[in-house]
Amino acid sequence: MPTPSASAARLKFWGVRGSIPVPGSSTLRYGGNTTCVELRADGEIIVLDAGTGIRALGFALEEEFGSQPIDLSLLITHVHWDHIQGFPFFLPSYNDKNQITVFGYNGSDVGLREILKGQMATPFFPVALYDLPGRLDFKKLDSMDFNLGKVHVRAKFMNHPGVCVGYRLNTSSGSVAFLPDNEPYDAFKLHSVKSHLLSPEQTQRRAANERADLVEFLKDCDVLILDTQYTDEEYKHHVGWGHGSLSTAVGLAVDAHVRKLMLFHHDPDHDDAMVDGMVETARKIAAKTGKQLEVVAAREGEEFILGEK
Ligand SMILES: [Zn+2]
Ligand SMILES: [Zn+2]
Repeated sequence: MPTPSASAARLKFWGVRGSIPVPGSSTLRYGGNTTCVELRADGEIIVLDAGTGIRALGFALEEEFGSQPIDLSLLITHVHWDHIQGFPFFLPSYNDKNQITVFGYNGSDVGLREILKGQMATPFFPVALYDLPGRLDFKKLDSMDFNLGKVHVRAKFMNHPGVCVGYRLNTSSGSVAFLPDNEPYDAFKLHSVKSHLLSPEQTQRRAANERADLVEFLKDCDVLILDTQYTDEEYKHHVGWGHGSLSTAVGLAVDAHVRKLMLFHHDPDHDDAMVDGMVETARKIAAKTGKQLEVVAAREGEEFILGEK
């Protein structure tokens, strides 16, 4: 995938699955690798999360750049395994010509670097983080608003167990929001506060405010990549698990005037036919609102230019 000019931003999906990789004949079309998305915009290479999909991205980058250095930014939403497990297998980290800057918010008292180091420590992995020849920089994000070159990035804490953010990236040719793990506030389940400290009314008010903030964060976004792990029926049995459902996802996208909703973080138990069915259901829900919203499911290997239909 060539680095685009300032006039074209490209998105490519390298992993679209949630929780655990599920390779096999039933997931061939949408793919079995966990979260990894690549954005090329305004001369930047921005990688969103390092699930198992990042392995194939690494091979593709090395093939594209050959002996030329690769300079990329890796934005981590959070450090649940399905978002970092591909990191030790990312080929550009194994070549000293490359610069990889990893951005994220601390997921615990130890920093992001320590967490990524931990999953590569003996006896879990044969190569230590500090032995990787690539130039790796870790930047702990304090601000929720920063720039990667000409791409303006905003972050927002999501409703998900532990520390987890979503990113909104505004490029010169369109905006993308990446919210791979997020539970709707509609069931008043709040991960960020100790719910027992709040009365039911306070919880309801807090949830309504949080949702309004999220609508504002996503306002007029061109592409929203959103956690839709569950059908509405499945969600009833998974309230509090930290993931999204179809009708709440469509409702959020419609309220925020999003142009295109991409169903994401597909459940490991959902085969291709199931994901097809979820797209159909989500389109019906969207049609009932009477508002304009394109709905598709993110598919591993899919690539498109931002702003193109
Ligand atoms: Zn996840
Ligand atoms: Zn998660």
